Amino acid sequence: MKQLCQILKRIDGKGYKAYKDLQGTYQFPDFQLFIDYVQGDPFATPSRVRVRLERKEVPVDLSWIQTRERKVALEDWLARKWSRELDKYSFKASGTGKSGLMTMDRPGQEILERTAVVVEPEYMEARIHIGLPARGRTVLGRQAEQMLLDFLPRIVREMKLSETDKKQIEDRMKLTDNQQAIRKALKENGWVAFVADGAVLPRESGISNRPLKSGQVVPFRSPESLQAVIPVPHGEPISGMAIPEGITLIVGGGYHGKSTLLKAIERGVYNHVAGDGREYVITVEDAVKIRAEDGRRVEKVNISPFISRLPLGKDTDQFSTEDASGSTSQAANIMESLEMGSTCLLVDEDTSATNFMIRDARMQSLVAKGKEPITPFIDKVRQLYEENGVSTILVLGGSGDYFDVADYVIMMDHYLPYDVTRQAKEIAGVHQSGRALEGGESFGEISHRNPVAKSFDARKGRKEKAEAKGLKSILLGSGTIDLTCLEQLVDPSQTRAIAQILRLLGKRADGRKSLRQLLEEIESEIKEKGLDWISPFRGHPGDLALPRKYEIAAAVNRMRTLAVKGENGR
Ligand code: ADP
Ligand code: MG
Repeated sequence: MKQLCQILKRIDGKGYKAYKDLQGTYQFPDFQLFIDYVQGDPFATPSRVRVRLERKEVPVDLSWIQTRERKVALEDWLARKWSRELDKYSFKASGTGKSGLMTMDRPGQEILERTAVVVEPEYMEARIHIGLPARGRTVLGRQAEQMLLDFLPRIVREMKLSETDKKQIEDRMKLTDNQQAIRKALKENGWVAFVADGAVLPRESGISNRPLKSGQVVPFRSPESLQAVIPVPHGEPISGMAIPEGITLIVGGGYHGKSTLLKAIERGVYNHVAGDGREYVITVEDAVKIRAEDGRRVEKVNISPFISRLPLGKDTDQFSTEDASGSTSQAANIMESLEMGSTCLLVDEDTSATNFMIRDARMQSLVAKGKEPITPFIDKVRQLYEENGVSTILVLGGSGDYFDVADYVIMMDHYLPYDVTRQAKEIAGVHQSGRALEGGESFGEISHRNPVAKSFDARKGRKEKAEAKGLKSILLGSGTIDLTCLEQLVDPSQTRAIAQILRLLGKRADGRKSLRQLLEEIESEIKEKGLDWISPFRGHPGDLALPRKYEIAAAVNRMRTLAVKGENGR
């Protein structure tokens, strides 16, 4: 501490580069400060520092880190508290550019594994971004002293967990255990999703992930026939709607809450914080939202189950295009998700290509099967379930033809669900669709592809570039990867992590391992070594969050530079 003080006095008034002398480790009475990386100037990416508190300084109960889920939930809770405390002091010291900034990566509504705070049995470590203060490019030593030797110790004192904090953490642990119990119940009972009674599904706005509060919110209430009651370790059993494996339709009039229900289910692959409204909306972790995405690139994807005999004899068992149509993009999105092992597809008519979803009897008579390259989803969805065990939840208000293939039909009416399976089946019996089945003998093959290393070339001029630009875009080398359509990518820190994983893939892809193999290897290495491991940063990588392999694969699949070898070496 004294040493830090001395350095700051010595460099006061010097050029900004003098701050580099700060790099190192400093012992405070009750914590350790690591100054890992010092920014080049007051406008550059802020400096990275870590604060480490021994266990005797923060009474972390070992039961809080006894499972992976609990540890993640604890670290998330701590990151939120650190963020709030840092906010109180951020920019209190002032100066040019980012001078005075004190911040940490901030979680949103989802609870994700992240690198912002790490708790180990022996210590807790917070990864902080600091803007070392300057006037112009001149070191403001006194201001820096205030930040590091006054504000920081004060913040640390706040982090020592009051009785209220401990109570809140205990509540968080209970929530996590209950969420985990529901995830387990899904597996044991063959359900793909659970929506608790009382859940609040609508969001504040199209761009906000917070619960709708203003106006009238209709809390969720399960239809009796689909209701399940799940015992949980803490508190009363939780009741709600359990959606079994198979094919489930969500129907109902426009604006009656269909898409809102599906969106909540999409996000149920992650755990949510208390007060979100979706804390007990839980979906199997490998459910993938599928949508049309015209204009995307596709690289040698086998879309032949859905599309064949394209004009000009274009191949569809290794289909490539720089500019996919609505239907080919939707087919590719499905096949790529299956390639990664998804067992549940989530589809909304709002974001689907009509000609991919349906082809009714009249159209079948007018346009002969031989002239239509597309086999619509309706003819494949059952094969997908029966042969491959892949379930589908489908929002569809516009076509009753799907009644024939559905196991369950849920109708949303004034934001409440009703089980209308029996009626739908009766109607399907009375009003035959008259369709000819076009799905053929079997679903068809799900092919793997082996990416080659040059796909991931991050070189840009003489430098390397692999970085996220916000939530939905990654800059890799001189190219941009557009992730706009990934609706289950929820946190910019996940996007940052994906950028780093793409860089890693450049070192590992050899044309012999499939994309799935590569990503599962990386996944298990992260599990073993922690998420820090994917980072090449000088200093701590405190702004990463764990993405699912589906979103990583989706980024790979959208790279304009992706090159692959097929299974047969083509
Ligand atoms: P649909 O897909 O059936 O056309 P949406 O799910 O898009 O309908 O919902 C229409 C509107 O109703 C949205 O603005 C949404 O926020 C709101 N909404 C959805 N569910 C509820 C609810 N349970 N309570 C209040 N408003 C809701
Ligand atoms: Mg809708």
